[in-house]
Amino acid sequence: MRKLTRTISGVTPVAVMTLPLKCPGQCIYCPTYTTTPQSYTPESPAVLRARKCNYDAKKQVKLRLKVLSEMGHPTDKVELIVMGGTFLAYHQDYQYQFIKDCFDALNGEESASLEEAKRLNETAKHRCTGLCIETRPDWCQQEEIDRMLEFGTTRVELGVQTLDDKIYRLVRRGHKVEDVIKATTLLKEHGFKVHYHWMPGLPGSTPEKDLELSARLFSDARFKPDGLKLYPTMVVEGTELEKWYQDGRYQPYNDETMINLIVDIKSLVPKYVRISRVLRDIPSKFIVGGLKDSLRDVVKQRMMQQAIECKCIRCREYGHRAQGGWEIGQPHMVRMDYEASGGKEIFLSFEDENETLFGLLRMRIQSKSIAKLEEETKGNLALIRELHIYGPEVPLSQQAPTAAQHKGLGKALLREAERIAGEEFHVERMVVLSGIGAKEYYHSEFGYSSQGAYMVKTLAQPPASP
Ligand code: SF4
Ligand SMILES: [Zn+2]
Repeated sequence: MRKLTRTISGVTPVAVMTLPLKCPGQCIYCPTYTTTPQSYTPESPAVLRARKCNYDAKKQVKLRLKVLSEMGHPTDKVELIVMGGTFLAYHQDYQYQFIKDCFDALNGEESASLEEAKRLNETAKHRCTGLCIETRPDWCQQEEIDRMLEFGTTRVELGVQTLDDKIYRLVRRGHKVEDVIKATTLLKEHGFKVHYHWMPGLPGSTPEKDLELSARLFSDARFKPDGLKLYPTMVVEGTELEKWYQDGRYQPYNDETMINLIVDIKSLVPKYVRISRVLRDIPSKFIVGGLKDSLRDVVKQRMMQQAIECKCIRCREYGHRAQGGWEIGQPHMVRMDYEASGGKEIFLSFEDENETLFGLLRMRIQSKSIAKLEEETKGNLALIRELHIYGPEVPLSQQAPTAAQHKGLGKALLREAERIAGEEFHVERMVVLSGIGAKEYYHSEFGYSSQGAYMVKTLAQPPASP
């Protein structure tokens, strides 16, 4: 049976796992099995799929496309998700080959170089409209940023976990809060979407502290991620943390405490954030302590009982709500401005009166220019970091009557962003970090042209006031 939820956000995710290589981190809670990439356990679905293909990226993508289309999913817009350890710390030849293999598999043909594979993908049948890489904050400096741009990356998942140097030291994370701030700033300045992995219940923390740090994520302008993955700390067999647990040095929160904490965290998350998943993909037989069951339903129930609503993007997405039987109203445009990482973020969305979300656009206004652009930009720079229309995925050439995609909402959001950038911030050029497979859309529909990893357009200037 077709599982609708997989494509309900408009784009089909395809996860590809790297070889089981060594991560430079030594986090005490991290599972380290020799047969799986670090932080993953044998028998989790993603690992099983990857092992079937001997961790060959091309085979994994091909197999996934085949299975998804047999299940009835459209596969013309794909988000590639690179999983496993710290990809950017692996041998660079391996990284380039891995990404090229992914594009070759999407294109259905072998290219001579990564550049050529990306170019082919702009008009391929299976287009990569987004590429996501997970990394550590200390493996996300200018060098890594430049490489990620070359790969066609659009979203980065940063392993942040907490915001406390003492806890980082205790769990041997190997980086500091300062690295999180630097990585977040660099990523946003280059137009990436930034999601954080967040681990309540780490050694050295308390529920109160976790809640306080969760609030800081959104009150302190140096953080403010676009998305959050909540991973309550679990004790996995074979880890250093298991020893701590066995000899009483570490005690996970009980289920009740963790569930209440998750409810509290969800209720403080602002509307521009997407909470994408709760709980790691770890089969319970490997979990020695901590929460084992999938939390989402329990948390949802608890929130309903207490009449608390999660305002995050995922909970408000058109597709999820339509499927959940919500009455859907007419969309109107909503704008939210906030300061983040040394710039101004403008979050535009289409919502109905119940805040059901049809689409969104993230634009950043900053004074800093980007070295990777051919021409130096004077004055403010406007960067579109995300444009996403929600609803069941609609193949590029079709329109389903109930879908929110392709009904001109994307166009209206982009036009408004261009107007705001030009009129309010006197921006001369709009810059978009789009997925490789979305470049053609910006080009043919809006007259943007390609400049390295970006799509760029000179904005018409409003007449000078007399
Ligand atoms: S950085 Fe991630 S993969 Fe590496 S040791 Fe820490 S948790 Fe594991
Ligand atoms: Zn939510």
